[in-house]
Amino acid sequence: HHFLELSAAAKQQSLQAEQQLNIAYEHQQQLEILRDQFLMSVSHELRTPLTEVKGYINLLLEYGNKIDDETRAAFMQSASYGCDELELIISNVLGSSRIGQEIKPLSMQELPLLSTITEICEHIYLEEHTLRLAIPADLIILADRQQLRQVLRNLISNACKYSPAQTLIEISALVEDDSEPMVRICLQDAGPGIAADEIPLLFHKFSRLKRDMMGSVRGTGLGLYISKQFVEGMGGRIWVESAGVAGQGSCFCFTLKRLLPVTSIKKDA
Ligand code: ADP
Repeated sequence: HHFLELSAAAKQQSLQAEQQLNIAYEHQQQLEILRDQFLMSVSHELRTPLTEVKGYINLLLEYGNKIDDETRAAFMQSASYGCDELELIISNVLGSSRIGQEIKPLSMQELPLLSTITEICEHIYLEEHTLRLAIPADLIILADRQQLRQVLRNLISNACKYSPAQTLIEISALVEDDSEPMVRICLQDAGPGIAADEIPLLFHKFSRLKRDMMGSVRGTGLGLYISKQFVEGMGGRIWVESAGVAGQGSCFCFTLKRLLPVTSIKKDA
């Protein structure tokens, strides 16, 4: 009798172990599907700019000595912008993986805001949009230049991707109160805007709006995720304000630490 009870318990245990193995196996399969989907979307993303770069280089190889200097320079510039796009995608993919984050430790520096943003924007290719800066000249921020560059490139690239050609993108900076140790940087576009119920998921990994999943605009859904990681790592916050009305656009805002001007540190001490 005792022996029978023991063997029933053993059976039960082996059944449980088998069930656990099955669950682990299904889990593993789901992970593999996710990984494949991710690799597919990243390869697809990389392919378009790569084809473009290759196209311009082939044109240069074939016609390089038959075209005028201006056309040649324009082809080289286009190839170079294609490389920038490749670089941004790779930085986003790497930055959003644990390994990538360990490679580049945060390096906070004092940076003059206006000239830093101007310099970053000068190297961004705007094919069909106008960029306007409204940034006070005297602000000094504390930030990691590379990460700030990547955040701005992602936000500007999105503004271009999702808003109609020939519209304006404005980057402004604001300090509400002289003694406030943060500066708010906002990027306003004139695109379709984002509905309130879609905003909470926007900064999650791989998140894309439904209307863009099937559309022709490419994306990995990593740009805003990585921007949030970087801004928060530098001690700031990032959010979006939008009425969700087409044409009224979206306003992506983030805060960064700034140096307080000497006069405002303690007026009444
Ligand atoms: P993606 O690579 O898809 O552009 P992001 O993380 O940069 O990934 O953006 C996530 C999603 O948020 C986009 O797919 C798009 O649906 C939406 N989005 C981002 N920026 C804007 C914008 N300026 N206007 C409208 N929708 C936007």
